Amino acid sequence: MTDKVVVITGGSRGIGRATALAAAARGYRVVVGYATNQGAANEVVSLIEQKNGKAVAVKCDVGSEADILALFKASDEFGTLGALVNNAGIVGKSGVRVDEMSAERIQQMMAVNVTGSILCAREAVKRMSTRHGGKGGVIVNLSSVAARLGAPNTYVDYAASKGAIDSFTIGLGYEVAGEGIRVAGIRPGLIDTDIHAAGGEPDRAHRLAHLVPMKRVGSADEIANAIVWLISDEASYVTSAILDVSGGR
Ligand code: NAP
Repeated sequence: MTDKVVVITGGSRGIGRATALAAAARGYRVVVGYATNQGAANEVVSLIEQKNGKAVAVKCDVGSEADILALFKASDEFGTLGALVNNAGIVGKSGVRVDEMSAERIQQMMAVNVTGSILCAREAVKRMSTRHGGKGGVIVNLSSVAARLGAPNTYVDYAASKGAIDSFTIGLGYEVAGEGIRVAGIRPGLIDTDIHAAGGEPDRAHRLAHLVPMKRVGSADEIANAIVWLISDEASYVTSAILDVSGGR
């Protein structure tokens, strides 16, 4: 058990929600970030409080630096930051080739998935690094197997944003390894969440399940279990590392 705070961007639904519940069950105080769905975020907070945990919902569109600053201010009021889970992420409409993509789509993708994650990490490092008087901590970045596969004819822009996250995980990990901060990435495979509907293909994960060596989709809980292991002391020698949680895909 710990009284440390974990900030989870996009903690209202899907993998972020499952991670919020799993972290609370391990004694973390949870800052549940959400973009627009306040009801879903409040539900996560209620579920945690029902089990005598501590959580707070904070509106934070990670495409906005002002929202990110407000998220970490709320975190400061809640306790000592011990971990950041850079989970918030978007896909564009599935099935759009690069030669059909608008600049607005690509810019939005990079603003949320890449710049948002880097800015959140900046705020976390300022608080956790021993160089700044902090007590150390962990940053987990959500990548995707798309970073390896490239997602041709599906959403190459999304895959590229997750490739950037992989490089960021490696580089930031080395940068702060001597300052008490571990940085790790997770590459989920096909996970059963709302994100596929957001890309216009609600049944995408199930349709492609036969391509997974384990022949099934993964659950948000299976990703959350890996995340809470990475933020725990059990992963104390893991940094600048990226873990595939993808049924072998
Ligand atoms: P999801 O079910 O679509 O949930 C997305 C979450 O992120 C929601 O809590 C949403 O908040 C929040 N969000 C969306 N846009 C945001 C923004 N601009 N700023 C802040 N929060 C935002 O997604 P998921 O499947 O759980 O995915 C979580 C992460 O895992 C993403 O980084 C994704 O790329 C990655 N991933 C997922 C899969 C998969 O198959 N599901 C595979 C590989 C990687 P609201 O509730 O307020 O909308």
